[in-house]
Amino acid sequence: MAGAARALSARLREVSGLLAVRYGRPGICAHETDPVRNLVLTILSQNTTDANRDRAYDRLVKRYPTLPALAAARPAELEEAIRVGGLAKAKAKSILGALARIREERGGYSLDFLRGMPLPEAREYLTSFPGVGVKTANILLLFSFGMPAFPVDTHVLRVTKRLGLVPGTSTLAKAALFLEPHVGTGDHGPLHLNLIRLGREVCRPRNPLCAECPLLAVCPEGARNMKGKGRRKCSL
Ligand code: SF4
Repeated sequence: MAGAARALSARLREVSGLLAVRYGRPGICAHETDPVRNLVLTILSQNTTDANRDRAYDRLVKRYPTLPALAAARPAELEEAIRVGGLAKAKAKSILGALARIREERGGYSLDFLRGMPLPEAREYLTSFPGVGVKTANILLLFSFGMPAFPVDTHVLRVTKRLGLVPGTSTLAKAALFLEPHVGTGDHGPLHLNLIRLGREVCRPRNPLCAECPLLAVCPEGARNMKGKGRRKCSL
């Protein structure tokens, strides 16, 4: 077991290094750093594109510039403001429910108390909000608090399955919790962001561009895809 854990850590280090050679080590991302605003943003990001999430968030901020104003929003008006991001009714409910609970429990709109909590407890607290799953919680913990949380979205899940880093039956949450302890110190953010970029640009859902992939040498699925083909073309 310890050997398997060491091997997984080593593979993740190797993958991270190869991606950093291609893409560098991104240190920032578009996410808000204020934890409560980040929570709102990550709720808006569910089941939509980054572009539509950002449009929904921009409209929300324009209409409700402060957190107290947002918390006091009428559900139907908030839904209207964020409609472009999809699932507006559910997201408006999650946002208003989360703000009301934070206000009630903390006496204001702050999640700073999470900073001093162990990661599993902080995650458990966040995932106790309706509409907040492990991915959303991990994004917030990583980008707002700098905790070593590892968010797994659909791109990261697809790539790590193809690399054989997680079982083929893994869900987003299971893969995140499985990989997280094995990602190197300081690598959670860069590896997360670089895997997303690889998943968008190269390891696409259909017709991954294995011949152009910086991970081809360490990818079992890439090797299968390339069998009998030249280095120029790859398709599933
Ligand atoms: S080699 Fe192919 S399957 Fe493997 S990570 Fe790269 S693009 Fe994806």
